[in-house]
This record gives sequence, C-alpha cells and structure tokens, in this order.
Amino acid sequence: MKNYTFTINGNPVSTANTFDVKNPATGELIGKASISSKSDVEEAITSAKAAQPKWAAKTNEERKAILMKVSQVLIDNTDYLANWITKEQGKPMAGPGAMFEMQACVGWTQVPASLDLPVEVVFEDDTRRDEMHRKPLGVVGAIAPWNWPLMIAIWQIIPALRAGNTVVLKPSEYTTIGTLEMIRLMNTVLPEGVLNSISGDGKVGAQLTSSKEVDKIMFTGSESTARKIIEASEGNMARLTLECGGNDAAIILPGTEMHSKIGDLFWGAFINMGQTCACAKRLYVHEDDYDRVVTALDAISAQMPMGNGMDEGVLLGPIQNKMQFDKVNNLVEDAKANGATIIRGGSPMDGAGYFYPITLVGDIDNGARLVDEEQFGPVLPIIKYKTVEEAILKANDTRTGLGGSVWGDDLEEAARVASLIDTGTVWINQHGAIHPMVPFGGVKDSGYGVEFGVEGLKSVTSPQIISIKKQVLTKA
Ligand code: NAD
Repeated sequence: MKNYTFTINGNPVSTANTFDVKNPATGELIGKASISSKSDVEEAITSAKAAQPKWAAKTNEERKAILMKVSQVLIDNTDYLANWITKEQGKPMAGPGAMFEMQACVGWTQVPASLDLPVEVVFEDDTRRDEMHRKPLGVVGAIAPWNWPLMIAIWQIIPALRAGNTVVLKPSEYTTIGTLEMIRLMNTVLPEGVLNSISGDGKVGAQLTSSKEVDKIMFTGSESTARKIIEASEGNMARLTLECGGNDAAIILPGTEMHSKIGDLFWGAFINMGQTCACAKRLYVHEDDYDRVVTALDAISAQMPMGNGMDEGVLLGPIQNKMQFDKVNNLVEDAKANGATIIRGGSPMDGAGYFYPITLVGDIDNGARLVDEEQFGPVLPIIKYKTVEEAILKANDTRTGLGGSVWGDDLEEAARVASLIDTGTVWINQHGAIHPMVPFGGVKDSGYGVEFGVEGLKSVTSPQIISIKKQVLTKA
C-alpha cells in the first residue's frame, strides 16, 4: 500500500511511522500516510520561516500571478483530488460533493488572488499624514478539519500566501492524503518553502501551534481544541483565527410558502451529511405550519440517494468517521429515550461503512441534547413554536454563534428577525450560503476572527502606520 508523503521545502518526506487511511463508505484501506516526527515539524517551520522574506518581497502582482498558477494546478487535477475527497472523506463525487468542493477550492483561490489591500490614509492635515500599510505576519500555522478537508485548507492557505506569509499546514488525521496530495501539487508552481505540510494527530498539531516561530494560527475544528490553541498562544503570542462550528438555528416565519424553498432548506441542513460548521442544525416552525413543513421535508429526504459516493447518482455519502457516527447515534438514542418522535430514519444502516439515514425528529424542544448540542450529522430536530419572539429566544439560547437563517416571504420582517439572532451570519431564505467575497466567522464559543474577502485578507496581516511630519515652509 502506498505511503503518502508530506512536503517540506518543496520536497516529499516519507517516514517509516505511518497510519492507515480507510474509506468510510467501505472500510477498505486506501493508503498509508507518513507521520511527521518532532524534527520534521521543526524543519517545516524553519523552511517556512526561511522562505518568508523572499516571498514577502515579491510584488503584489508577482504573488497574484503565482496564485493564479496554483488555481490552474487545482483545475488540472480536479478529478484526481475529487477522487481522494470521495474515497477519504465520503462525500459523493456528484451533487454538492467532491467536484463541488474542488470548484470551491478554485474559487477561493482566484478571489483572494485578485484582492488588494491598498494603503489607507487614516489622517491628514497641514502638519502630518498618517498612512496605514498592511504587512504579512510571518509564518502561518494552519490546522484543518475533516469535513471539507481541501476547501478549508485552501481558505487558510491562499489568503495567507496572498498577503506574503508562508504556511505550514496540518490536515486532520481523518482526511490526510487528499490534502497532502493537493499541497504536493501546489508546490509544483510555488517557490520552495512557501507552503509546507506536516501530518499526524493532535500532538503534531500542538507542536505547530505552540512553536515560538509561528506568528498566526488559523484553525477550524472543535471548541475544545480551540481552547488548547488559545492556551498555547500564551507562549508565542500568535494571532488566532478560530472557527469552531456552531449549532445554527433556522426559523421559518409563520405562513411562509416553503414549496419553492424546500430544496435550499434540505441542503442547508444536510449538505455533506450535516457535517458542515454552518449547517442548519435546529429547525423552528410555527405550530400551524408544522405538518406542512414536515411533510415537505420528509418528501424531499425520500428522494435523495445515499451510498458509496463513487457510484453514479449518489447524492449523500456516509458519516466520515466512527467518532462522529457514534456521536450522532447517541444523540438520536437520547432523543428517543426522552419521548421524541422519529419522523424518518433514526437508526444506523446495515452493512459496511458509517451510513446513517437522513433523520427528522419531532416532539422535541430546547433542553434535549439533540437540540442543545451540535450533532454534526444527518439529523434535524424540528421544534414547534407559538410566537416569533419565542423562536428567537430559543434560537439564541446557546453558547454557539456561527450562523442562522430566517425563512419568510416578507423580507422586511425576515430582516428584522435576522437582526435579533446572535450569530456571525444570518441568511435569509438560504442557509450556509458562503461566498469568497463575504466575511465569515462566529461569535461566542464559535470562535473569533473572520475569513474571506478583504476582511479575511486583513486578518493575515498586521497594520503598520507610517506617520509623516509635513515640512512647514518658513520664509527666510
Ligand atoms: P478536532 O478539533 O479534534 O480536530 C481538528 C484539527 O485539530 C485536526 O487537524 C486535529 O488533528 C487538530 N488538533 C487536535 N488537537 C490539537 C491540539 N491540541 N493542537 C493543535 N491541533 C490539534 O476536531 P475533530 O475531532 O475532528 O471533530 C470533533 C468535533 O469538532 C466534531 O464533532 C464537530 O462538532 C467539530 N468540527 C467542526 C468543524 C468545523 O467546520 N467547524 C469541522 C470538524 C469538526
């Protein structure tokens, strides 16, 4: 079985110490990944640090041109990398799956590659002129999760490089090979040392995040790991962008026509089998609309083929790993034990792979674990409300604050309700509709810092003020 390498200073590095990577749809061994040693991690950081001044010294136009070459590499290798996404992560090639993830990788490369951070004159009068310039931070340590492994790695890598930083990235140990391969391919057009990868579990990640040579950490994953990274940053003062998922509420306003919106609501909740930080994870429906909405959601769920994502026509794959599979199963069992009604699904599927059906759960409310905790899986609790104010209170009754959505035909009323939701983003008549130009980030325990767009680019820079005293001309 092939041992996949990580990349340091443009070179492939393999180690005898490896771990097995298995296909979550079949349980089949699909490759081995080298585990980086302590000295490999040090070497990766040293190589990023050594490459950074020269990379930062390139002009904006030079870095943009190189990143456009990176986007061409992603385009040229779309099939190869999408295959790895499906085999390793589980999402199907079709639908909003692996090919869609690769398109997003290209988009989230080309857009930051085309952005600029011009010098801002923040103050000027007859005596002085104060300019704000944007400087790269240095070495960015990136820690990626397993749900959208390549796309989220791209979110971390590209803005960092665009701004003149260099990067060391560690993929999740659950989805390593696709990301290591993507970084190997990107290195064919990047200067040596600008983008490095390391591989292994949380211990390898902790070595990166606690390094004194790392200036910024970009992290997406669990809240508990984010807290460890915050503690580690005490030692190196690294700036942090932390994206720790959420427990997004979707509120359907009373009387909303849902026929034309049900597809968007379905994918807003179940894209990537619900394993998406900004999926709708709790649905609030007015009691008079409950039966109508449940019937429509049930009907669309019945039409979605689930299976091995390499098979044609499949739109939903397995859950990515056993830890997540058990978590979903436990939350549903807890809901059942506490009197909830299973409208659809509700038990693991037989056979190989971590398959769990689309599951709709009714007769449930805030206070149940399935509502209060982030399930990160293909399960949606549907909660009846009597008044919109009650729905808003319940939506906000959480320590998370990533996204949320309001569904309504009266856009003014939807916007009023949206403004009362305590999250980084509130979508109207859509959910999880992220865009490379639109800043994205959470509040409360969902983390801090924003990614994407000009604001995301600023977050991988530090401002430098150049303050100029004006010459006062005096007559001789
Ligand atoms: P995790 O936080 O354990 O892992 C995320 C990444 O952090 C991995 O690359 C991991 O190796 C690394 N890591 C672990 N410990 C570390 C440490 N001490 N220092 C530095 N890096 C470290 O998340 P997980 O186990 O993959 O998933 C657990 C939960 O996180 C899920 O159930 C889900 O709720 C949430 N999650 C959220 C997202 C998201 O997009 N926000 C993605 C994946 C998982």
